[in-house]
Amino acid sequence: MKATLVIATNNRHKLEEIRSMTGDAFHFKTLEEIGCTEDIPETANTFYGNASLKSFHVFNAYGLNCFADDSGLEVEALNGEPGVYSARYAGKQGDHEANIDLLLQRMEGQTNRRANFRTVISLVMDGEEHFFEGAVYGTLRGERSGSKGFGYDPVFEPDGYDITFAEMDPEQKNAISHRGIAMQKLVAFLQGYRS
Ligand code: IMP
Repeated sequence: MKATLVIATNNRHKLEEIRSMTGDAFHFKTLEEIGCTEDIPETANTFYGNASLKSFHVFNAYGLNCFADDSGLEVEALNGEPGVYSARYAGKQGDHEANIDLLLQRMEGQTNRRANFRTVISLVMDGEEHFFEGAVYGTLRGERSGSKGFGYDPVFEPDGYDITFAEMDPEQKNAISHRGIAMQKLVAFLQGYRS
């Protein structure tokens, strides 16, 4: 029988992506599919803490193996900000335009433009927690470029490229992104777990 693994998201895109990477060894379910409609608190001040809160919430409340991810942008000159506050940097959750405006404002006159995205995945499998991390390093542009992707993509230029994440096709971004790297590590672990 296939083992069930909950992915702590309702984002179907993430679900399809991981399904296509892992073959059919696992039966993946979204939060919606297990009837988890409550807001899961993300009150920790690290990516590790928030990913853990989400995966353990599902494991403890529903008794199901689960993985959850937490990501954000860390800017060297801003002492790692916006970090865990990336989604609500300017105040309103998910207001990407306002978040970029505030970031550009805080970066005015800064010569150190180094930044990185980071993703941490917490997997709770049979009560035991495993972490997978991915990071991508680059520099912040002084203005937006490109219209693909989401979040801070229009102002992030990964090392080794002269275009921003927002100018890349999804496949190109996923191959080098923080989330893509963390996911690849998770998938390798899952493939080994059943064999
Ligand atoms: P989440 O934990 O994946 O939901 O990411 C939290 C926030 O970090 C997002 O709302 C974005 O502001 C930022 N972020 C995370 N990953 C990316 C990315 O790949 N591109 C641009 N922004 C990102």
